[in-house]
Amino acid sequence: MERDTPAKPLVLVVEDEAPLVTMLRYNLEKEGYRVCEAMDGEEAMTILAERSPDLVLLDWMLPIMSGIEVCRQIRRKPKTRDLPVIMVTARGEEADKIRGLNIGADDYLTKPFSLPELLARVRALLRRARPAQSKGVLTFADIVMDLTAHRVTRQDRSIHLGPTEFRLLQFFLQNPGSVFSREELLNAVWGRDIYVEPRTVDVHIRRLRKALNTTDGEADLIRTVRAAGYALDNKEPIVN
Ligand code: CA
Repeated sequence: MERDTPAKPLVLVVEDEAPLVTMLRYNLEKEGYRVCEAMDGEEAMTILAERSPDLVLLDWMLPIMSGIEVCRQIRRKPKTRDLPVIMVTARGEEADKIRGLNIGADDYLTKPFSLPELLARVRALLRRARPAQSKGVLTFADIVMDLTAHRVTRQDRSIHLGPTEFRLLQFFLQNPGSVFSREELLNAVWGRDIYVEPRTVDVHIRRLRKALNTTDGEADLIRTVRAAGYALDNKEPIVN
């Protein structure tokens, strides 16, 4: 059914090492993606204004404007706020990784990376960003998730979530009141086929909380259970 096939996802590769761009383009196209490329941060912003990629592979160290700055701008603009971003970098420090995730990247890869791992992460992130088969509405307290429209509201206020936070909240809404360990959340939301550090879960929980609790005095519906994990419920948070 050719006409029912959705358009091939478009991946924007932002990378200043030409041989790496060639290699990535070749392999991404072989996997069935369309590819556009930018050699520096400024060019990336121009392309993002003109086209609508489904995912960005973003190098950290770039001429003119760093990957970190590009990521910040992506998150600031309404058009690209929810766009999946994978940071690719030669810097492998844990602090860098957390910093990359904190400024809004959805995933993080350290150079030199293995090609199968990169492709697995691209696949996983696009899957998180496009929950195509999901239909219906999930609710909990004053949170409403419309899976058909891919929209979340709290007290009729629109909540903007990245693809990972969306899946995380969806999973919680499907299992309210249950406590999940970081490993269980990783398996449910990220999938079993890629390795993600458990600390990454904390970063995304923090982002989800920040997005949900934008008004002072609003109940924090995500409960941290010390040494156990996280749950969506109405109870008071357990204080250490
Ligand atoms: Ca570079």
